[in-house]
Amino acid sequence: MSQMESLWDAPIYGLNQSDKAELLLSRLNGLSQWHREHCQSYATLLESAHASVAANDYSEILPLAVQLFKQVRLSSITDDEVFKTITSSGTSGSKSQIILDRTTAALQSKALVKIMQSWVGRDRLPMLLIEQSNLIAQRSGFSARGAGALGLSFMGREHCYALDEQMQPNWPVIKAFVAAHQNQPVLIFGFTFMLWEYLLKPLMQQGVCLGLEQAIIFHSGGWKKLEHLSVSSEQFNRHCEASIGSSCVHNFYGMAEQTGSIFVSCEQGHLHCPIFSDILIRDPMNLAPCPIGKPGLIQVFSALAQSYPGHSILTEDMGLWLGDDDCPCGRKGRYFKVLGREPKAEVRGCSDTFS
Ligand SMILES: [Zn+2]
Repeated sequence: MSQMESLWDAPIYGLNQSDKAELLLSRLNGLSQWHREHCQSYATLLESAHASVAANDYSEILPLAVQLFKQVRLSSITDDEVFKTITSSGTSGSKSQIILDRTTAALQSKALVKIMQSWVGRDRLPMLLIEQSNLIAQRSGFSARGAGALGLSFMGREHCYALDEQMQPNWPVIKAFVAAHQNQPVLIFGFTFMLWEYLLKPLMQQGVCLGLEQAIIFHSGGWKKLEHLSVSSEQFNRHCEASIGSSCVHNFYGMAEQTGSIFVSCEQGHLHCPIFSDILIRDPMNLAPCPIGKPGLIQVFSALAQSYPGHSILTEDMGLWLGDDDCPCGRKGRYFKVLGREPKAEVRGCSDTFS
């Protein structure tokens, strides 16, 4: 599908929302048509909803409830084209299945690299992952949590895994990493809860600061567990500065169902939509599109979902559209904030699976 080319050529956060939406909409309509032809379940859903495959704006694109990926195997490829299947873990036992072919997996990696490079530069940095070593992770299977870490581990070099088999900080490994990279940029990645519980808290308890002043810290996964502990994002960032030594902290939001097209928070704490994806906020009661400033369910769009009809998904997360093109950080396009899980929705966050 040719629409992808114009997205690759465009700047990640450089287009005004109207220009960006026009480009992305053309790709999304192309995907709707593709999936209608290649996925019988999707064609049936389109028909029963009387939804268009030539939408004039985002609100006209049929949103699939994220729950649907747990109930139905949604695929637009033949069985022999399946390259890998990503399962997103759930506490209830039901799991989303995301079917990828080589093309879609490649689109995901390429988009993720482009997005991340715009935040950390093109050089691969030494990377500390707040995870158990890859050998331990492999034993427990290819989960969404693992896939998330693996997706980003590609951005770094000299990977160090900060946690031991008991999920405790592996101090010799951490100290060796700090000693080797004290005065240079490094990348630290962890799921929000794991970074808090297994690195920041132990460091606080010991009153130690790692002194990694040039660290770029990325974390993802819900705030749900931290809200129970009454930790705000501001507190989280302050503790990163106090215990790691850097206030360069980026949260990112993304779904296993739309791997690759992630939303990264800027210096203002606002999540920005990259060229490959966008959002719309919908009223949870009647699904009407919400204006700027009105909380609602987040609908996510991704240009990358080619092997399965996941280009327009209604999440169970509540969010707030903050604005278009005018974030003080200078990035163009839409920016927003995640407020948390819809109260009655099932708990299903990636990092929530480790408890
Ligand atoms: Zn911003």
